Amino acid sequence: MQLAQGEPVGYPASMSYSIERRLAVEAVERASRLCRRVQQELVSGSSLSKDDKSPVTVADFGAQAVVSHCLATALPDVPLVGEEDAAALRQPENEGLAAKVVSAVQESVPELEKAEILNLIDRGTFEGGASGRHWTLDPIDGTKGFLRLDQYAVALALIEDGELVMGALGCPNLLVDAAQPEGPRGCLFIAVKGEGSFMRPLDGGDEQPIHVTDIDRGADANLCESVEAGHSSQSDTARVAEMLGISSPPFRIDSQCKYAAVARGDASIYLRLPTRKDYEEKIWDHAGGSMVVSEAGGRISDVDGQPLDFSLGRTLRNNTGVVVTNGHVHDEVVAAVKKVLGRAG
Ligand code: AMP
Ligand code: MG
Repeated sequence: MQLAQGEPVGYPASMSYSIERRLAVEAVERASRLCRRVQQELVSGSSLSKDDKSPVTVADFGAQAVVSHCLATALPDVPLVGEEDAAALRQPENEGLAAKVVSAVQESVPELEKAEILNLIDRGTFEGGASGRHWTLDPIDGTKGFLRLDQYAVALALIEDGELVMGALGCPNLLVDAAQPEGPRGCLFIAVKGEGSFMRPLDGGDEQPIHVTDIDRGADANLCESVEAGHSSQSDTARVAEMLGISSPPFRIDSQCKYAAVARGDASIYLRLPTRKDYEEKIWDHAGGSMVVSEAGGRISDVDGQPLDFSLGRTLRNNTGVVVTNGHVHDEVVAAVKKVLGRAG
């Protein structure tokens, strides 16, 4: 397939990323289906003990292999910053686990052999940075949600010269319509820079444009945060909510489904407030979701109101925490966050 890379400057934005967009949708759909199949093992009860993490591990590695295969086949020269690498799977003591990964991947791409699958996973070891283009992938964001049979996401983004240009999120357990709790689940979100943000049901159906809410007072906003208290300070978030005058309890949901919730208006604020001083957010935990929110009209910054810097390699080391809003309430929310965290002035 011809790379879009060589296209002339000034090429119409609506055409610039058509290959990459199709590719991202296909890769995320395939990986989401793999995750769903592996999750069936958990649903069907089987013989797993409660703390057996192997299904999530199989799905994590398997999803990275499937996405990497799609991307490498179409655009072999664009490297990948992925969360996983295959080092552990190459250890003799993990042969059983590796075999499970191989069979999960072969259900999606039958012709792939073990050695190719491990190499595809290892394509994710690229360091990223400020020049050229690269993908970033979280094959299963929200592994704890996956294990709880709750929310998780396959998150993919394309970064060019340190800037996000496309994001895709597969959210296999997310309600297609949050207002219909008994309705179908499974959504795919896709956004290209300058072209808006769209959602389609994972199981087929039309793509619809999505937009953030038009709420313009923090007090009227729904707020979402991590289920896991270790990933975001729930006590600081409660103080920010109180300062803003939000009386409804926060909506807790795992993974970049929080970005999806803000992008389509289920919530107007997503806060990720640091639990430790030394934690560096990973680019794959924010790249896909950020693009989906910004193209839906929202805003993303760190707790100081600075934009997230995706040009520094695998982490957002120049940023602390993340504040995501519908845009209208962003300054108000950042001001409250700064006060609560003692970062004002
Ligand atoms: P969530 O589902 O939003 O709670 O986020 C899941 C992600 O949290 C995982 O992909 C991890 O990379 C990330 N994570 C792990 N430890 C921390 C931490 N101390 N602070 C923030 N994020 C973390
Ligand atoms: Mg993650």
